[in-house]
Amino acid sequence: MKFPGSIHSKLPKVGTTIFTVMSGLARQTGAVNLSQGFPDFSIPDRLVELTHSYMKKGFNQYSPMQGALPLREALAQKVEKLYTAKYNPDTEITITAGATQAIYTAISAFVSEGDEVVIFEPAYDCYVPAIEVHGGIPVYVQMNLAGELIDWEKVKKLISQRTRMIIINTPHNPSGRVMSAGDMLKLQKLTEGTDIIIMSDEVYEHIIFDGMEHQSVARYPRLAERAIVVSSFGKTYHNTGWKIGHVLAPEELMKEFRKVHQFNVFSVNTPAQFALADFLEDKDHYLELGAFYQEKRDTFNRLIGESRFKIRPSEGTYFQLLDYSDISDEKDTDYAIRLTKEVGVASIPVSVFYHEKNEDRFLRFCFAKEDETMEKAAEKLLKQ
Ligand code: PMP
Ligand code: GLN
Repeated sequence: MKFPGSIHSKLPKVGTTIFTVMSGLARQTGAVNLSQGFPDFSIPDRLVELTHSYMKKGFNQYSPMQGALPLREALAQKVEKLYTAKYNPDTEITITAGATQAIYTAISAFVSEGDEVVIFEPAYDCYVPAIEVHGGIPVYVQMNLAGELIDWEKVKKLISQRTRMIIINTPHNPSGRVMSAGDMLKLQKLTEGTDIIIMSDEVYEHIIFDGMEHQSVARYPRLAERAIVVSSFGKTYHNTGWKIGHVLAPEELMKEFRKVHQFNVFSVNTPAQFALADFLEDKDHYLELGAFYQEKRDTFNRLIGESRFKIRPSEGTYFQLLDYSDISDEKDTDYAIRLTKEVGVASIPVSVFYHEKNEDRFLRFCFAKEDETMEKAAEKLLKQ
């Protein structure tokens, strides 16, 4: 069928996300899929049992627009314990259909035509389209992945009356770098006395390595008062397909967030929310997640150690960047496709996280995998 008129695309330059493209190619070719970020191991049995029991008990209708109250209460307690931040579950916490919806809704609620939004590159792929579809203007700051991550003086020069929002992401996808307490204090200083809203994408809050501490903006009261903090249960409980996330924000910001949220999803899967509320009592799960993934990272890096790929240290997330400049000078998008088709390992080319042409030679590999999966991939990669 063909649409009979002409289409005025709101996102003329946007195609299908790299995650769908590379996972599709991995499926087609039978390659080991280390591209799109998702675990290939099971979720905790108890979480499945709890969800099942809530379904059987009849928790199958709409939950409140803000999210199931027990889950919001459990989150309020968790955040207070971890980050010493007090969020009111009635007015300052909302359950979302994953972090992607939370991010889109927050941008939709606050970014209007001509507003500028500062984002750091490489940038996770859902920020820019959400900004542009609302007529906002992304203002790009390049991060230094090999050293001092953010040059805050540079950021300061880009701030103007039109700056509506700054989006940060720590631990950072795709680089695996994390922001420091110093970064947070500089961000605080930079935004003081302005109307700028900070959106902090913290979906990997529990996946941080080598004794480092996650610097949630929630830890910093003078940042938290202007911040929308986004997280996702998918990363913490190995259940990315459940698409459940949450947002923390001061009441005034949350009011605006919910005005949009109620009309773009209204509410989220009910039995899963109740199950997660109960499961949140098991603190060990999220407190041990960093050590669990650190072991995965170390296994992957040990397996790959003998190859010609160069490892760029990963401080958090479940991603590892590998530099292939000793192997090939192909563009990363071409090399990632060839590696999938000819070698049998799918990865993500990092240039897709930049708005301008990028000549770096990095691929991103997901190590949220069974050891056998990583062994299979490494065997192939070692031949490169
Ligand atoms: N932000 C970042 C940095 C991510 O890596 C992801 C997903 N992997 C998301 C947001 C989206 O999370 P969700 O799957 O809960 O929508
Ligand atoms: N965030 C995941 C990644 O970085 C992908 C999620 C998605 O496919 N939208 O791989």
